[in-house]
Amino acid sequence: MAVTISLEGKSVLVTGASQGIGVAIARKFAEAGALTGLAARNEEKAADVAASITAAGGQAFALKMDVSDPASVSAGMKAFLERAGKIDILVNNAGITSDGLILRMSKESWDKVLGTDLTGVFLVSQEAVKSMIKKKIAGRIITVGSVVGLMGNAGQTNYSAAKAGVVGFTMALAREVGSRGITVNAVAPGYIETAMTDELSAEQREKLSAQIVLGRLGTGTDVAGAALFLASDAASYITGTCINVSGGLFIG
Ligand code: NAP
Repeated sequence: MAVTISLEGKSVLVTGASQGIGVAIARKFAEAGALTGLAARNEEKAADVAASITAAGGQAFALKMDVSDPASVSAGMKAFLERAGKIDILVNNAGITSDGLILRMSKESWDKVLGTDLTGVFLVSQEAVKSMIKKKIAGRIITVGSVVGLMGNAGQTNYSAAKAGVVGFTMALAREVGSRGITVNAVAPGYIETAMTDELSAEQREKLSAQIVLGRLGTGTDVAGAALFLASDAASYITGTCINVSGGLFIG
C-alpha cells in the first residue's frame, strides 16, 4: 500500500528558495499540496521558480526577504501572511558560506555567515512563532543545518559555529513552544549537489565520495524528503532533534 504525505490546506514559507536545496524543498512541499511561499533576496529568481511550480499544478508564490535584516524579515513575513493567511510550516533554509582558515578569516566574513545562518534563523523563527501562537496553530519549524555543525570542518569555523548554533537553537526553542503544540527540528545535510558544491573538481568529488558511506553526494531531493517527513503527521511526536542527511559522511 502506498503511503503519501499530504500537506493540503497548509501554508509553508521556505527561505532561500531561489536555487539549490530550497528549490527542492519548495517543490516537494508544493507537490504535497501546500501553498508554498518562496523567499529570497532575489525575488525575481524566486518568482521564476514559483511560476514553474504553478505551471506543474502546485500553489506557489515568491516574496523578497533578506533573513539577516530584521526589517526585511518583518516586511517579508507580513507579505507572506497577507497572501497565505497563516503560517503552518517554516523551513529555514537560507544560508551562505565564506570559507577561510582562521588566521585569514576577517571579522566581516565571520559576521556575514553568523548573521545569515544563525541570526537569520532566529529572526524568521521569531516572526513565525509570533503568528503561530496568535492564531493557535500547532506549527512546524524546520531548519537546514549542516553536518559540519556536528563534526566541524577545517576552513569553516564561521559556518560550523553557525550550524552548531542552529542545533542549540532548535533544542531550546522546542522546549519553549512545545506546550503550544509547535515542533522545532533541524536537518543536517552532508555534501549536496548545488551551487555551493559545484566548484569542486572531479578529484575533490572523488575524494569526498570515498568518505561517504553511501558512496555519492546527496541531492536537494534527499534533503527535501527529510524536511517533508518532519512537516508530516508521521513526525508529530518528534521535536528538538536534528536528522543527519549525509549518506553516512557523519555517523554519531
Ligand atoms: P545555494 O545554492 O547557495 O542557495 C542559497 C539560497 O539562500 C539562495 O536561494 C539564496 O538566494 C538564499 N540566501 C542567501 N542569503 C540569503 C539571505 N540573507 N536572505 C534570504 N535568502 C538568502 O545553497 P544550498 O546549497 O542550496 O544551501 C541551502 C542550505 O543548505 C543552506 O542553509 C546551507 O548551509 C545548507 N547546506 C548545504 C549543503 C550543500 O552541500 N550544498 C550542505 C549542508 C548544508 P538569494 O541570494 O537570492 O538571497
